[in-house]
Amino acid sequence: MARLLTDEKRITDFFACDVFDDKAMKAFMSGADYNAFVEVIQNGKELDRQLADKVADAMKEWAMSKGATHYTHWFQPLTDATAEKHDAFISIDQNGKTILEFSGKNLMRGEADASSFPSGGLRATFEARGYTIWDVTSPAFIKKSNGGAGVLCIPTAFCSFGGEALDKKTPLLRSMAVLDKEARRLLELIGKPCKSVSPNVGGEQEYFLISKEAFNKRDDLKITGRTLFGALPPKGQEKNDQYYAKIKEDVLDYMADLNESLWKLGITAKTQHNEVAPSQHELAPIFTSANIATDQNQLIMETMKKVADRHGLKCLLHEKPFDGISGSGKHNNWSLCTDDGRNLLSMGKDEQSNRTFLLFFMAVIAAVDDYQDLLRMSCASAGNDRRIGGHEAPPAIISVYVGDKVSQILSVIEHKNGEFKNIKEYLEMGVKTMPKLKKDDSDRNRTSPFAFTGNKFEFRMVGSQQTLSTPNVILNTIVADALGRFSDKIEAAKGEELDSVLSKIIYDEYMAHKRIIFNGNNYSSDWTEEAARRGLYNLTNAVDAFEALNRKEVRALFNKYGIFNDVEVAARYRIYLTDYSQTVNIEARTALSIAKTCILPRAMAYQGELAVKANALGALSCGKIQVKQIKTLEKYINDFDKAIDALEVATKTAQATSDLKEKAVACRDLIIPKLDELRVIADEMELICDKNVWGRPNYQDILFRD
Ligand code: ADP
Ligand code: MG
Repeated sequence: MARLLTDEKRITDFFACDVFDDKAMKAFMSGADYNAFVEVIQNGKELDRQLADKVADAMKEWAMSKGATHYTHWFQPLTDATAEKHDAFISIDQNGKTILEFSGKNLMRGEADASSFPSGGLRATFEARGYTIWDVTSPAFIKKSNGGAGVLCIPTAFCSFGGEALDKKTPLLRSMAVLDKEARRLLELIGKPCKSVSPNVGGEQEYFLISKEAFNKRDDLKITGRTLFGALPPKGQEKNDQYYAKIKEDVLDYMADLNESLWKLGITAKTQHNEVAPSQHELAPIFTSANIATDQNQLIMETMKKVADRHGLKCLLHEKPFDGISGSGKHNNWSLCTDDGRNLLSMGKDEQSNRTFLLFFMAVIAAVDDYQDLLRMSCASAGNDRRIGGHEAPPAIISVYVGDKVSQILSVIEHKNGEFKNIKEYLEMGVKTMPKLKKDDSDRNRTSPFAFTGNKFEFRMVGSQQTLSTPNVILNTIVADALGRFSDKIEAAKGEELDSVLSKIIYDEYMAHKRIIFNGNNYSSDWTEEAARRGLYNLTNAVDAFEALNRKEVRALFNKYGIFNDVEVAARYRIYLTDYSQTVNIEARTALSIAKTCILPRAMAYQGELAVKANALGALSCGKIQVKQIKTLEKYINDFDKAIDALEVATKTAQATSDLKEKAVACRDLIIPKLDELRVIADEMELICDKNVWGRPNYQDILFRD
């Protein structure tokens, strides 16, 4: 393995060395230009062309000093991935001389042929132009290939010729602006003003690490990211002996390389550990502003894969690579922070700050209750459907876990009819024995999809390969909406005593939304029944969850805050449905191909082999077991053949549907059940056939790599 920088340098010496950060800006820009640019980044001052030219020049010089030869506008189209098109700095001037060029214009705006990106009908092919627009709030960075080729990456938003968002960044920036506005408005009204409020996000990323050799022998993993066949190994994760277990040497080497690569990109990779499943791991960076956290999470996923390749490994980011084994998620830790460093979801020591806490806390509760379906939608995908609702994953029902401490406070609010005096008494009592609400006090309920964990909310439903953008767009917007509603109430009660107005808001909101709070075991069947009694949504699959985008109130919400207009929402709805159907179809086609060209021939070959032996043994009045085995296999082979036909019919029926919704429904109701039936038979056969005949690495080979 290559020697790591960490062998010889302190981390702080090379941290963010590939980022055009404050340090790089200072080194490559004049003092005046630097100051002017900081105003643009921090206070949203307009960027003029002259300054843009200066910044571009500094970026180019800096990037070239790091060996970069190209630049790219790096953006997030309406997939879960990122996109880039490289341009070399090299150019020819009017005298035919070779020059190195990168102007403010190149930096600020790019024009991309957008025709091959999903647009959900937002743009006709004849007007295929799309624009990429520089996001000054996320720093530019250099991506290097394993061989050292360097590209300056400029984070950008991506929109159509008509200005509609064609990406995941634009709505996130819009939602952050809206949340900032509504949070400041409320803080102002309650006498706690600040200059800005930003959502902070820490995304914990789960992943599997398997050997490249095994990966390359599994077409299902290669094509679909998950195993479409495979019987459970004799030992899975039932003993829970993987979680936090000692990390294997080769994984530690991988993690060291990964961390170093991320640190160079200015990503604060912080925590690493083994997860519940064999060969499953997790990485968490330190939280940062939602926009940067989202960009960084994309880089984390990309870097995880790239570094794995260097180590003869493959990093799997699919939500459920292995049936019967824990899937992978991405926990979205979310809080609100003011420019002067106050976490608005942190309980304070006095009545005043607790009032602020309770207002913001209640805004989240109300928002989650009002828009459960939309939150569920924000993590809906064919991949995540394989995980959500499983025994180790969050259920499909959204509820909020608040923990004992907050439960007690809420109970005081409910029974004393919201008088702050009582809460204060309670908190003072609490303060005597426990001076501060320590983070550890918030015992975690691992079964909850949305848990309050001391000073932040942790949304655990997000799938491991999904972008962090969508869940945060939704969270920011729905919380902004609730905060706005609170402010409206305060404004309407002008002249009344503020304390009692706030008490009433907190009480009323709690009473109206307390059904969303659930501190029990989310995996139990009792909860499913109880949730139905409470009238909570139970959207068990992505196709149903996408319908949230058609709900009247949801459209009105997006319109009101300018997050998406109706055309943009409709486009996203179409893209989600299309992606769902395509994923299921690709899985079906891959399964059919493996079933027909690999599994069936091998099962028949093995049966044939047994038949030859049974014949020979029969002459000796032996071979009873062989005959028994042949008959068992005969049944399986027949069933398997029928299951192949059934899946083929289902696939054709779904393909013949032209309406997007109907097609997705057909994929869900016709293809998926047949796909799963086919698998069951294959897995049964795998368990009785000679392993050498089977020929492909099985779960044991893949998951218990030595
Ligand atoms: P866990 O037990 O869930 O792993 P951690 O304390 O390790 O909890 O935090 C997990 C993630 O939450 C990390 O990415 C961390 O940076 C992030 N995080 C911690 N505090 C906050 C906060 N106030 N806002 C947003 N994210 C946070
Ligand atoms: Mg967590």
